[in-house]
Amino acid sequence: MSTRNLVSGTSVVLLYHRLGMPKLTSLVAGQYVAPRLFNSQLDYLTGRGWKGGALADVAGAGRTEGAAGQDEFCVTFDDGYLSVYDHACPALVERNMTATIYVVAGSIGGINDWDAKAGDRRESMISTEQIRELSDGGFQIGSHTMTHPHLTELTDEALRGELTDSKHILEDITGRQVAAFSYPYGDCDDRVVEEVVAAGYTSAVGTKLGVVVEDMSAFEIPRVNVRWNAIGPLLMRKINRARRASRSTK
Ligand SMILES: [Zn+2]
Repeated sequence: MSTRNLVSGTSVVLLYHRLGMPKLTSLVAGQYVAPRLFNSQLDYLTGRGWKGGALADVAGAGRTEGAAGQDEFCVTFDDGYLSVYDHACPALVERNMTATIYVVAGSIGGINDWDAKAGDRRESMISTEQIRELSDGGFQIGSHTMTHPHLTELTDEALRGELTDSKHILEDITGRQVAAFSYPYGDCDDRVVEEVVAAGYTSAVGTKLGVVVEDMSAFEIPRVNVRWNAIGPLLMRKINRARRASRSTK
């Protein structure tokens, strides 16, 4: 039997933001995932044979789509909220799993200034010590810029600053190379991608719905945005939508 006949598995990168009960006072209430729901999502997927892995395993260079028919997922968090440290990371550690956390390097130990300016609730962000602890504990720390801007609207100079300053700050804290990047608002174009590559990142995730496919760019990795109501079957329905979205763009 040739490998072509193997049923290929699906590889998907899940995107989370905040953990906690949905706050009706928030402009992005749907971005809160209750800790119990988060735990149940992990158990739902693994209970159906999905393997939880690191970003490099699921969407890294050189991986082949659906190796041996294994469905796999990795967990990513944008922004670096304290609620992720408090609720999601312990649940992952308990299950021997890891995640990538994309930190806004200019807001470490502070609040979500970019959201607050737009009228949203203030939320606490993880501290320097917590970032170090997570990195030492096997979590991957990635950059989500300095100030969470729309990157396509910046001058070349400001764009480079957002990419390289955040990388250096996070490398200083973790003592490790910071190679993973996430575009704020999923906002990117050819110029932004070029600068992300030039800054020394080796992968970048966006917010476009999709699954990992073999011939995709490592700098435009699609994700599945997981929201407050995504109980197991709804999460699976969204993953299936992502599968179809990726197929239709090929
Ligand atoms: Zn963000």
